[in-house]
Amino acid sequence: MEGTKGYIHSFESFGSVDGPGVRYIVFLSGCPLRCKFCHNPDTWNMTAGQTYSASEVLEKALRCKSYWDKDGGITVSGGEPLLQMDFVTELFTLAKAKGVNTCIDTSGATFSSEGEAFEKFRRLMEVTDLLLVDIKHIDEEEHVKLTGRTGKNIREMFAYLDSINKPIWIRHVLVPGITDNDKYLEQTRDFIRTLHNVYRVEILPYHSLGKMKYDQLGIDYVLKDTESPTKERVENARTILECSKYRRWESELDGATDCGKDTPVSEYACGRNCC
Ligand code: SF4
Repeated sequence: MEGTKGYIHSFESFGSVDGPGVRYIVFLSGCPLRCKFCHNPDTWNMTAGQTYSASEVLEKALRCKSYWDKDGGITVSGGEPLLQMDFVTELFTLAKAKGVNTCIDTSGATFSSEGEAFEKFRRLMEVTDLLLVDIKHIDEEEHVKLTGRTGKNIREMFAYLDSINKPIWIRHVLVPGITDNDKYLEQTRDFIRTLHNVYRVEILPYHSLGKMKYDQLGIDYVLKDTESPTKERVENARTILECSKYRRWESELDGATDCGKDTPVSEYACGRNCC
């Protein structure tokens, strides 16, 4: 029986920065946010993606299984994958039946703490091993200016994930003049300190590599005059956010104890600025 179809922007067979180990990345189409630093405006429109069933996607992913070792698996990213929760739940249910590690890379922008949406999210969490979650901006007013939407429900999602002790990796894009500000970084650190389920905290330095896509799509790129942060500012942000404190690495995710290895995070590893 054919299940829910997912709108998919693209696939990446050997992702190395979107979750533990080597991962098959499924980039879903559609996003309700309009982050000024977004590197993938071509994922914003959901129906621009191609449709696949969950079993078709799993079949494609499993062709790469021999590269996953014990830590790898499937990551759904976007766009915003939580826009298509039914599809992701189907995909992850099939994946877990095959023993595959499952990870969602999300902004949390669609999270609701009540009603059917919450029930769907709760079910999805039953088949999700890890979430890569963004803190776009800790200040509500600045969050709206940066993304076009409130961060209130996103903070509610963090609270819920903490309450069920679901492992998360936090990612924070450092943008000069927007998030690269010691006061905001300290507020972000204080928020992270309230959580008990944080396995990793990463700083992603802003870059403008996506500008060409804006030109192609005829969308104004508002950060055209913004430079990447300096190495010193990146280091400053890592220090304030206490990135080195969060070392619950991959091996702990599958039940082993912390191996203590210090996996370096490439400063410019993720070209998407959305995770
Ligand atoms: S950065 Fe991510 S969350 Fe923000 S608009 Fe782009 S795809 Fe959406």
